[in-house]
Amino acid sequence: MRIETKCLHEGYHPGNGEPRAMPIYQSTTYTYDSTEHIGQLFDLTAPGHMYSRISNPTVAMVEEKISALEGGVGALCTTAGQAASLIAVINLCSAGDHFVAASTIYGGTINLFAVTLKRLGIECTFISPESTEEEIRAAIRPNTKLIFGESLANPALTVLDIERFAKAAHGAGVPLVVDNTFPTPILCRPIEFGADIVIHSTTKYMDGHAVQVGGVIVDSGNFDWTQNDKFPGLTTPDESYHGLTYTESFGRAAFITKARVQLIRDLGCYPAAMTAFLLNLGLETLAVRMEKHVENALAMAEFLAASDKVESVNYPGLPGDPYHGLMKKYMPKGASGVISFTVKGGREKAVQFMDSLELASNVVHVADIRTCVLHPASATHRQLTDEQLVAAGIGPGMIRLSVGLENIEDIKEDVERALARI
Ligand SMILES: *Cc1c(COP(=O)(O)O)cnc(C)c1O
Repeated sequence: MRIETKCLHEGYHPGNGEPRAMPIYQSTTYTYDSTEHIGQLFDLTAPGHMYSRISNPTVAMVEEKISALEGGVGALCTTAGQAASLIAVINLCSAGDHFVAASTIYGGTINLFAVTLKRLGIECTFISPESTEEEIRAAIRPNTKLIFGESLANPALTVLDIERFAKAAHGAGVPLVVDNTFPTPILCRPIEFGADIVIHSTTKYMDGHAVQVGGVIVDSGNFDWTQNDKFPGLTTPDESYHGLTYTESFGRAAFITKARVQLIRDLGCYPAAMTAFLLNLGLETLAVRMEKHVENALAMAEFLAASDKVESVNYPGLPGDPYHGLMKKYMPKGASGVISFTVKGGREKAVQFMDSLELASNVVHVADIRTCVLHPASATHRQLTDEQLVAAGIGPGMIRLSVGLENIEDIKEDVERALARI
């Protein structure tokens, strides 16, 4: 199946007389004929659902679909993108460990890595997404367990050179984790370029309709955890499962299995069936929506670049953008639907512009079917220091415009009117 077809048909394969739409299994628990069978579920020797904190048939169908879209061996849904980042990191890192992340990642992820994980004894070094292989290697320490970056950064819109980061990571015997939220697997599939783990905030384009908060982790199955002694959590016995070793029992699916049966079990951040059902509605139309988001965003980026009220426009889909070359390599079908631009006159004019819009909504969200705007410096990235703002590629007058699926002329008229008012 091609990717458009996978969006519709992966994950759920109804038999004769069964419902055409994916059913919602709204049940916390599952019945079995024997105590022995339930015992086997706890030993992880028999497949099956035991309790909806760990797995659920509706969520499992959505996981199977997303894994197929990214080209993985398995996926795990979480209650938010934040939980996906957290679990991806602590599935490999314990107190005393270290990891490396690109400095342009999402502001919420920076908080998680720089503040909360630090409090738990896990240290993160932030490096420029433009680092050379040597510079990446220089940030790696003996206790480094992974490298993390965003394929298309929110909101800086830097494009990660996935192959370069993967090469540096693999040279040091650690995996590359890529947050692929903005391009979605329709526009970019990081595993094909060497990423080992892919995560998403499904709250964004995957859902697209602003109706559920969620996250997902996809395991490529390609990383060999047994190549060194850096990952004892995967290669030595887990006492909470009578001494089972994930790499021995689950092979290529060791990472994603451990994340579920150990961390989701203990932390309890698994989505409800209804949430997964809503996410699936979004996934079914993801391919057609992304195509239209790309078309509208490119037209808007060209329009903004031609305006004398605009100081600069970042959109990797524009031929003059510094990331255009990388974008053509990693996301040849388009640079997604988000533009960041700076109006002349700094913070004050940016706020005036935002408040003058009528069609586009001023929201703490992005990647919605409806056009929306956000001022990162006063919202999502408010908690960052000026220094961190610069490292994250965000200026005080920067506006993030998430171009929706409205008629492009209506979006243009709205933006033109608001620009005229500043
Ligand atoms: C929104 C976002 C997150 C966090 O996801 P939530 O679903 O809001 O928890 C992580 N990464 C990126 C790139 C995002 O845009």
